[in-house]
Amino acid sequence: MKKGYFGDFGGQFVPELLMPPLLELERAMETIVRSEEFDRQFKALLKDFVGRPTALTRCDNLSQRLGLDLWLKREDLAHTGAHKINNTMGQGLLTKMLGKGTLLAETGAGQHGVATATAAAKLGLECVVYMGAVDIRRQAHNVRRMELLGARVEPVKTGTQTLKDAINAALRHWIAEQRDTHYCLGSVVGPHPFPEMIRDFQAVIGREAKAQFRERVGRLPDMVVACVGGGSNAIGMFHEFVPEPGVELVGVEAAGSGQPDCYHSATLSLGSPGVLHGTRTKLLQTGQGQILPSHSVAPGLDYPGVGPEHSDLQASGRARYVSVTDDSALAAFQTLCRTEGILPALESSHALGWVLDNARDIKPGSSVLLCLSGRGDKDLEIVEQALASQKESKGD
Ligand SMILES: *Cc1c(COP(=O)(O)O)cnc(C)c1O
Repeated sequence: MKKGYFGDFGGQFVPELLMPPLLELERAMETIVRSEEFDRQFKALLKDFVGRPTALTRCDNLSQRLGLDLWLKREDLAHTGAHKINNTMGQGLLTKMLGKGTLLAETGAGQHGVATATAAAKLGLECVVYMGAVDIRRQAHNVRRMELLGARVEPVKTGTQTLKDAINAALRHWIAEQRDTHYCLGSVVGPHPFPEMIRDFQAVIGREAKAQFRERVGRLPDMVVACVGGGSNAIGMFHEFVPEPGVELVGVEAAGSGQPDCYHSATLSLGSPGVLHGTRTKLLQTGQGQILPSHSVAPGLDYPGVGPEHSDLQASGRARYVSVTDDSALAAFQTLCRTEGILPALESSHALGWVLDNARDIKPGSSVLLCLSGRGDKDLEIVEQALASQKESKGD
């Protein structure tokens, strides 16, 4: 296999000026990240600060209703409310061990910015977060959280003033300030070694879940399901199960409204191969290679690319990728609240929405392990607005 590739996908499609920090990171992956000292400190942070291991919860009420054995890996219980903190603590610790003083990040909805600002505060690092001006208006709450945590939020006013423009701005900043700055990318995207490094930091999800499931059920699940934006919670959940042929892997993307020609984020289901943000992967693009706008009711799924390893898992047939509409995710959100007492993130609600919509086609009694990537408290405004407009369009 070519260095930094997953089959035909991955690589390092970056300007020459970005190669020195990428090579430095590749070396750090071999030396620092593999060291006993890193392992010891990372494990301690995950346990005492992040709150790992997160729980494995059986959905007793939903299982009965669906005729399945449904289990949730509870990343919503991790500090800051989602899996993103696993990655930012790993990269934060690496930054410190590299002797650098600043964590740089991009953020869309603000969740990765908050997780990065949290890691920076805990580890005594400076933090600069690039965020599209449109997103800053939409997510004022998370901007306040980042500022309270001591981060500097830089508005990005180019392009669509959203996530992909924030990534471009952060990459430019990194080129200029690479000596003292580490770019803390938020998902398993971007040039090598980010997809591999971030997968390894998130793989704790699947490692824990596999051991917990074995202990409680005595075998492996029949099916593992996770939502896919950039793909980090999904690859973190899948990684440990990829070598287990009896375990079916299902990644769930956001189909938007589901109307023909609507904007969506179903990159693997409907996209085509190309290069974005330094990596070759599947993308939402025009025939001429212009990146298309993406959309999802779940802010964390709203990205026109996807991690290259998922493109390869799809190409090899090892994992299957499906998509779920905004409405299905909203219905799943409400179902989990009422039947199990858990408010799921809208992103995670896509994974659950697929299980609810397709339960009849899954062999009765199958065990399904679902990654509940985050908690839904952050989404209450979006949910209330979406439910109100559903009511209006139904004319009542
Ligand atoms: C950011 C986010 C996602 C999407 O990111 P991935 O890299 O695909 O995991 C999913 N769920 C939650 C709760 C998020 O905050």
